[in-house]
Amino acid sequence: MKTFEFIRPADRAAAIATASQSKTAQQGANVRFIAGGTTLMDLMKLNVEAPARVLDINRLPLDKIEATGDGGLKIGATVRNSDLANHEKVLRDYPVLSQAILNGASAQLRNMATTAGNLLQRTRCMYFRDTAMPCNKREPGSGCPAITGANRMLAILGTSEHCIASNPSDMCVAMAALEATIHVQGPKGSRAVPIGEFHLLPGNTPARETVLEPGDLITHVTLPTPVAGSKHVYLKLRDRASYEFALASAAVVITVAGQNVTRARIALGGVGTKPWRSPEAEAALVGQPANGANFRKAAEAALRNAKPQSENAFKIELAKRCLTHALQMAVTS
Ligand SMILES: Cc1cc2nc3c(=O)[nH]c(=O)nc-3n(C[C@H](O)[C@H](O)[C@H](O)COP(=O)(O)OP(=O)(O)OC[C@H]3O[C@@H](n4cnc5c(N)ncnc54)[C@H](O)[C@@H]3O)c2cc1C
Ligand code: SF4
Repeated sequence: MKTFEFIRPADRAAAIATASQSKTAQQGANVRFIAGGTTLMDLMKLNVEAPARVLDINRLPLDKIEATGDGGLKIGATVRNSDLANHEKVLRDYPVLSQAILNGASAQLRNMATTAGNLLQRTRCMYFRDTAMPCNKREPGSGCPAITGANRMLAILGTSEHCIASNPSDMCVAMAALEATIHVQGPKGSRAVPIGEFHLLPGNTPARETVLEPGDLITHVTLPTPVAGSKHVYLKLRDRASYEFALASAAVVITVAGQNVTRARIALGGVGTKPWRSPEAEAALVGQPANGANFRKAAEAALRNAKPQSENAFKIELAKRCLTHALQMAVTS
């Protein structure tokens, strides 16, 4: 690991002013915030990230979970994943979020990992994490060995000819289904970004993963008012039962009145280059009887544009079954 300066900014303004001196907030940033450190320190040890300055934001007052005036929830950027998953309002009103977080990593990691850090965790693509290999995300223009190489874990939705890396987060998939909003404060002021617009598709610029600019500090995330009577399920399929990233996962928030689905919010994990909301599956469900045949149709719609790689075609059927089963679990819960 290269040497770096470790700074504890006195307040939010100082943190933003120092971070704004970075040339980028994306790959290659020379100033980085650090929260739990469970992503950043790993990548620094691998020389994938080499910031000259690391700004510890743990003393900033961003660690509260609070009800909002409209009945929603405000989650501070440095709230630990374990505190969020076990918060009584999350367990009661947003159980899909609790389930998703508890399906990720390990208890020790969740005790350190934060809300903002989880939003910004990087892909587990092995070439990205190995500086001896080319990788367009790490070194633009160097190539993507995953396309002809080890791609079993990688994405089948939202890929480009330049990058097929999957987004590894569980929490973000639930937040996509809950229509969370990410609140950012930067040198030019504050702004609110819907989660669907926060992460970017790789396209021609896979090194650019989010809309963040130099100096941008995630301050908190808000969740809208919970939908009365909605059923929540997060189902994660993986190679082993714990401490493993998703091959496919599904976050389902669904409301059924009588026999019919009246509202559905669906997101998929493990298969997309970003947390993958599926308006196609939602449209296929709303107004239809809540039964297995229609759940399967929704899953077919969600995966219609899937583009498999040499080793991961199995993910198409796996993701369809994952979503179908998650919907079944939701309506029978
Ligand atoms: C072995 C292992 C297994 C794991 N398994 C899973 C899993 O199954 N599912 C899953 O979802 N995750 C998994 N994770 C990932 C884990 O959830 C993330 O590492 C964690 O959420 C990152 O949070 P952090 O606070 O530690 O981030 P940090 O490492 O502190 O930061 C990560 C990034 O976010 C930036 N950052 C942090 N806070 C802010 C802020 N407020 N504003 C702007 N930028 C900020 C940092 O600069 C850095 O670039 C695993 C991690 C490990 C090491
Ligand atoms: S899939 Fe993306 S992260 Fe992986 S090697 Fe290709 S460019 Fe790099």
